Amino acid sequence: MTIHAYAAPHAGEALAPFDYAPGPLGPWDVEIAITHCGVCHSDLHLIDNDWGVSRYPLVPGHEIVGHVAGRGAAVDWLSDGERVGVGWQRGACLVCDACLSGRENLCPRNRATCVGEHGGFAERIRVDARFAFPIPDDLPAEGAAPLLCGGVTVYSPLRTFGVTARTRAAVIGIGGLGHLALQYLRAFGCDVTAISSSPGKEADALALGADRFVLEADLARNLRAAGPFDFILSTVFADLNWGTFLNALAPDGRLCLVGVPRNPLSVPALPLISGRKSLSGSPIGSRSDVREALALAARHGIAARAEVVPMADVNVAVEKVRANRARYRMVLAN
Ligand code: NAP
Ligand code: ZN
Repeated sequence: MTIHAYAAPHAGEALAPFDYAPGPLGPWDVEIAITHCGVCHSDLHLIDNDWGVSRYPLVPGHEIVGHVAGRGAAVDWLSDGERVGVGWQRGACLVCDACLSGRENLCPRNRATCVGEHGGFAERIRVDARFAFPIPDDLPAEGAAPLLCGGVTVYSPLRTFGVTARTRAAVIGIGGLGHLALQYLRAFGCDVTAISSSPGKEADALALGADRFVLEADLARNLRAAGPFDFILSTVFADLNWGTFLNALAPDGRLCLVGVPRNPLSVPALPLISGRKSLSGSPIGSRSDVREALALAARHGIAARAEVVPMADVNVAVEKVRANRARYRMVLAN
């Protein structure tokens, strides 16, 4: 059997058609006929080998929705043709402390969907069926695919760090992750501030769930009106002045990074100490987080604003993300 896909031949190069033979379908594996796959900025980091983990040819793609097209002998809880999704994680050891306590996303032996294995910019994929999630019927496929990575990545820290309706929250960067964070925070009932470097995104940010919109460059000047915040979620990969955001936190507030800045952080210690503030990160989400994020999305009408293009136009989509011109998630369709 051959799977037709798109791969970056070398670091930073445009994607080109690429065929590969998948391994045998193991007892716990599922084969998925992919209908849609979102383009996450992590795919660009992988194409460019920003994290030093990429192997080429590299088939990106980890916001996958499709239909079950084959099942291993042990996979009796999914049915043929059922609609399922796969995110950043395609497997884990399932026996370590993290896995056994429902934190598979922290498993030291977690398998990423497109690191060292071929991802979802393809017509098919084979993954561990325990990391394939039924998609609620109410969710359109193109709006649901980005929830598998972007959505759960912004949802999980809200649960982990106890965000409630009383939380004054802010989101830095209104891109793929950020526009989903606004929607989840609205569903949580929070007061939400969108912080952006793009003046043209104000109307969309307000429509997606923000109570107000602040230009990143104006934050320090607008703190009295906008802040202080109990929880700031950063979805940007740029090197920002993190001290400004620590200063924007209320006592006991938290700045949580999900976006991956290029350079090591440099932060002033005093606001952390005197305000007992926290700086943390968060990777994707556990399997139960994925199920919750999908269920909450179906109940509250949360979905990616997807710009759908044919899979063959993958390079157009990637370049649009690179130029910060996606509004708000490019999604490839077979
Ligand atoms: P994206 O769609 O490209 O959005 C990123 C946003 O960052 C942009 O829309 C833009 O928002 C802002 N931005 C871009 N360049 C900027 C600059 N020079 N200065 C300030 N802001 C800038 O990317 P994404 O798919 O949301 O991913 C964002 C980050 O999250 C990436 O680093 C990705 O690898 C990471 N990620 C992490 C996880 C995890 O598990 N932790 C999961 C998925 C993705 P504005 O126009 O509003 O400023
Ligand atoms: Zn991603």
